[in-house]
Amino acid sequence: MSDSERIALDIHAHLAPVLKDRLDAIASVTWDEAAGALTIDGYTLAAKSVYRPEALVAWMDEQRIERAWISIPPPLIRRAAIAEMRADAERLLGPQFRQIVKLIEEPILQPIYDLESPHMAFGRVAILGDAAFVARPHVAAGVSKAADDAAALVQALEAEPDVPAALKRYEAARLRENTLIIERARHLGAYLQATQTQEERARAGLHSTAGAVIAETAVLDFLRT
Ligand SMILES: Cc1cc2nc3c(=O)[nH]c(=O)nc-3n(C[C@H](O)[C@H](O)[C@H](O)COP(=O)(O)OP(=O)(O)OC[C@H]3O[C@@H](n4cnc5c(N)ncnc54)[C@H](O)[C@@H]3O)c2cc1C
Repeated sequence: MSDSERIALDIHAHLAPVLKDRLDAIASVTWDEAAGALTIDGYTLAAKSVYRPEALVAWMDEQRIERAWISIPPPLIRRAAIAEMRADAERLLGPQFRQIVKLIEEPILQPIYDLESPHMAFGRVAILGDAAFVARPHVAAGVSKAADDAAALVQALEAEPDVPAALKRYEAARLRENTLIIERARHLGAYLQATQTQEERARAGLHSTAGAVIAETAVLDFLRT
């Protein structure tokens, strides 16, 4: 493998710190301290203890893994992070929202990604809805765009007997609108990003005022212009 062919992968749970008392409470997960082995659903995670941060980094280097997205199952979220979130909620939120946070026994982490496809038709295969485009929540367009994709697909198949040609027609009908929705969601959501380019910072300023959030969230009028 050449250096240019480095790998990106999703690492699930490997980086989670081992909290024995918590692991004991999770079905099908065992931790063998002596062997340094974490077993999940009968599968022992690598021989190299990659769930230890320093070992994981070394293992990634060895395997030429350039990037890893890390997802952590809820019981393994660091307790300190949860305590910090609860303290922030007390400090920053209104009473109703504080109450909701208090009632959540086990918070989850939900990463938000943009998914944008350059094509929706590939020969006799079409993708639609979230399989093709996933926009940040601000536009609240997920259901309506999936339904519009489905309706456009039906119309294209009814109008054109040749399936690949019909799917191309479907793509032509939907690609632009879906791309606009993703772009709009990126603009509206820029203020929540952990890191921002200069352009995103400028957009964040425009869309993060209370008035703008109320007027712009879950509104698809921009598609008419
Ligand atoms: C927490 C949350 C809140 C949201 N709030 C809103 C909102 O307020 N407004 C809005 O418009 N949108 C909202 N969305 C987005 C919206 O739910 C999605 O955009 C929409 O459901 C996408 O529709 P879809 O048909 O493309 O995919 P889905 O609704 O995800 O349907 C895909 C279906 O395929 C099934 N499936 C997957 N793999 C297989 C397989 N191998 N074999 C068979 N079946 C399979 C799944 O079980 C699922 O039923 C929200 C999403 C989330 C997660």
